[in-house]
Amino acid sequence: MSVKEIMRKKARDLEAFTPELADFTVEEIKKTLGLDRVAKLSFNENPWGPFPTAVEAIKKAAFSLNLYPDAVAKELRQALADLYGLPANFFVLSNGADEMIALLAQTFLDEGDEVVIPFPTFGQYFSSVTLMGAKPVKVGLKDYKIDLESVYNAITERTKMVILCNPNNPTGTIITGDEVKSFIRDVPEDVLVVIDEAYAEYVEDFKFISGTKLVQEINNNIIVVRTFSKIYALAAARVGYGVAKPEIIEAINKVRPPFNVNVLGQVGALNSLFDKESVERIKNYTMKAKRELYHFLDKLGISYVPSETNFVLIDTGKDCVEVFEFLAREGVIVRTADVWGLPTHIRLTIGSPEDMEFFYRTFKKLYE
Ligand SMILES: *Cc1c(COP(=O)(O)O)cnc(C)c1O
Repeated sequence: MSVKEIMRKKARDLEAFTPELADFTVEEIKKTLGLDRVAKLSFNENPWGPFPTAVEAIKKAAFSLNLYPDAVAKELRQALADLYGLPANFFVLSNGADEMIALLAQTFLDEGDEVVIPFPTFGQYFSSVTLMGAKPVKVGLKDYKIDLESVYNAITERTKMVILCNPNNPTGTIITGDEVKSFIRDVPEDVLVVIDEAYAEYVEDFKFISGTKLVQEINNNIIVVRTFSKIYALAAARVGYGVAKPEIIEAINKVRPPFNVNVLGQVGALNSLFDKESVERIKNYTMKAKRELYHFLDKLGISYVPSETNFVLIDTGKDCVEVFEFLAREGVIVRTADVWGLPTHIRLTIGSPEDMEFFYRTFKKLYE
């Protein structure tokens, strides 16, 4: 008898996360490739490091690691409530946004339910949905953007959930506030609308409205997913959260493990949240660096998707795996987009000024 046979049926055919070069840590990549210098631009990480106040708070909190953390993250939830102008019972914390997505699937999805997911998008949605025995229903994008009309048309009697990534990873495009509002007006009340806003803090377009502004509308079941991993630079501390009306939060809390967010993550997040100056500085740098990248690509005659995030989807016009391998040999690590059905695209994270220069120098060689 094999172990596979005693596994849950729905878990048998999932794939373990097996890191490829693009997922390795910078140190592992350096060792693997025998390089001194590596620009890892494949993970949409913040190149500036965690905020100094967060690091200080984390150092102090390390002395209390013998004690269990606050199981309901009271202080952090209150801080989020103050920031958003919502009651604290609209918030639930998770071990990264990834866990929030898994918790939503565990709380709401039954065998046979359908989940409408515009594609290409963030891969994590599919494994969480599939594990619960629910069926992901992919809907194509239009001009690299989520097309809410086709999303709406894909909703059937079996649809339990819709997952909208806004801005969308890997395209960097947004759906506007007006589009989201009219979609939500039309969606049946028993369909949960999940809006993953992992990159919301980077958005420039004033037509974007966060779903957190809509969660108080009583008739709808909207849950917004956010993270401290991206602009707040705490990816390794693993803190994400959900924002929704209390009924939904209470449902999720029935499924959530009590100590899912560790104390270092809790204090790190708490001490990053009100550092508006750091958030603004990183956003401004990213905006400026994106303009430079666009200019560089325009000069080479290479097309790209203008992005509202800290990454840009680029159509290299060549096999993306070959492009990846060429760049990697030189020490520049990007994400290939073949997994999203885009065989000539790469996704590039906006890195530090030095890393961007390194990328420019290396990437140019492909077209000489
Ligand atoms: C990075 C990312 C996440 C995961 O964030 P964690 O909080 O680190 O788990 C979720 N959604 C999208 C779209 C992302 O790009």
